[in-house]
Amino acid sequence: MRSTAGDDRGAIETAEQVLLLLDRGSFNSTYKYAVLLGLMDVCLERATRDGSAPDSVTTWQLAERVIELYWPQTLPFLPARRAVRTATETVLSQNKGGPAEILQHILDFRAQHAPERSTPLGRARAAAPSAFDALIRHVEWKLMKMPLPLLPKLGRGESRASLYTIQWGEDVTRRSIRRGIDNQIRFVGRTGEHLVRLAGLLRPLIQREWAAMVADLNRELTGERQLEEFLFGSQRAALAAVRHPLRELQEDRCFYCGNKLGSRVEVDHFVPWARYPLDDVQNLVAVDPRCNNDKRDFLAATSHVGRWSARNLQRTTDLEELARRAGWPSDDSRSGAVARAIYLHLPATSQLWLGHRGRFEPVDPCALRNALGAGTSECGIVGDGRDA
Ligand SMILES: [Zn+2]
Repeated sequence: MRSTAGDDRGAIETAEQVLLLLDRGSFNSTYKYAVLLGLMDVCLERATRDGSAPDSVTTWQLAERVIELYWPQTLPFLPARRAVRTATETVLSQNKGGPAEILQHILDFRAQHAPERSTPLGRARAAAPSAFDALIRHVEWKLMKMPLPLLPKLGRGESRASLYTIQWGEDVTRRSIRRGIDNQIRFVGRTGEHLVRLAGLLRPLIQREWAAMVADLNRELTGERQLEEFLFGSQRAALAAVRHPLRELQEDRCFYCGNKLGSRVEVDHFVPWARYPLDDVQNLVAVDPRCNNDKRDFLAATSHVGRWSARNLQRTTDLEELARRAGWPSDDSRSGAVARAIYLHLPATSQLWLGHRGRFEPVDPCALRNALGAGTSECGIVGDGRDA
């Protein structure tokens, strides 16, 4: 397989889209992780003789793989003794508010056809082939209904190119499937190929996010989330020290929407923590909970970048003074450098968070350069002398 610069670019775009899909909080169940890993695995399994990935996979193939992924996860989880005093065995929850239906179907199959816990999936399938086919059909249906039609729409504009296209929407019915629907999941461009190339990089990332969500949903049983927070998390509680000074600096307005701040004020990392963990006061803004919940780990839009850069440039002394009083880290050049490194390397298909209700905008490289004080003559405006 040959690799070209354009191909590398495409691979980066695929990786960026997977990152978008991984954003926490945008899904109630772990299905999206199963779908992402499942698509990647089917691409690997179905590679042609010369190693190329297929252009499409079927929902049936995906459903088979998703069952394999969930199979070991439907066994009861025994928490470490130290974490929980009264250790009881439970199947971990993978959905907010109620059981995840796909897991429930697998549990039902296990109860009827493979009651012995250690039964490997292959043996269970061989022992009850028609029941297993029925299980695949159930899981295929769940995936077709949700999340397959939703993933391409996640957190961005309507027209955004995504990883794949499908020929049905959320209104799909079981009847239309029985009549014979086009069940191909077609990869956009060379996405299948990129998923294969990036598998070694993306798999641990997807698995980690999946584990983190399960840990979140089963806090009383697992200690992993606390460990990850401890090792890599932001000390959110400590942010209280700068919340009120930042609020004052912004004249009591939410940094993003400009609305008057109410009783609940939160502090947002402008360059998202998930992209680069940076606690410097220059990277912090006071926001209302609505904007904060909606922005999550997304990169903010160009207009926000412009205001943020201008604030850090114009209020240098105020920010330093604020940091000194709160005993907070401060560095007047680091945030800008990190923002330029991230924003100016974004692929053209990236979407930036504009405001709540899931509003996004596409990347405009020249506008971004100007907003970051890194304008060039090619962009029609020369930089303002800040170190670009
Ligand atoms: Zn707001």
